[in-house]
Amino acid sequence: MQKQILVAVDGSSMSNAALKEAIELARERQAKVRVIHVVDSPYTYPDVLYGQFSADLEAVRKAWREAGQKVLDQAVAMAREGGVHPESALLESDAKRLSSLIIEEAQRWGADLIVVGTHGRRGLEGIWLGSVAEGVARTAPVSVLLVRGRR
Ligand code: AMP
Repeated sequence: MQKQILVAVDGSSMSNAALKEAIELARERQAKVRVIHVVDSPYTYPDVLYGQFSADLEAVRKAWREAGQKVLDQAVAMAREGGVHPESALLESDAKRLSSLIIEEAQRWGADLIVVGTHGRRGLEGIWLGSVAEGVARTAPVSVLLVRGRR
């Protein structure tokens, strides 16, 4: 039975459904929970392209980080309301694939279950699985729970 549950959140209703599921599992199993959010932009673009706008870019980065911290804080508050006291971490993608970062963090922390939504904030209507969900499910070395929530 899994005892270390890593849940990756992006603030979408699908990711909230995944978080709820993780909270219930953690309560049932008396498992530890780590909630993470990855700030994925504007790091996906090489700085060199933005050299002349570097001051603006720094402001954009700060705003993205703050928005990411809010997503994480809300998720931690939800977990606490559900009776679970999670660890949390805000990560930055730095041009890496989000799914790879989530898996690296899961391995580093020793997770034995990763929980994500089937879709997220950026998911396209109609596709069967979002790109983060697909990448995690395809390459994770531990079990993955894909939670289907409502948009
Ligand atoms: P997607 O594959 O982007 O449609 O998102 C599927 C799921 O991956 C979401 O419901 C979240 O659980 C997770 N996810 C997406 N983006 C992020 C992110 N930036 N940080 C952490 N988890 C994420």
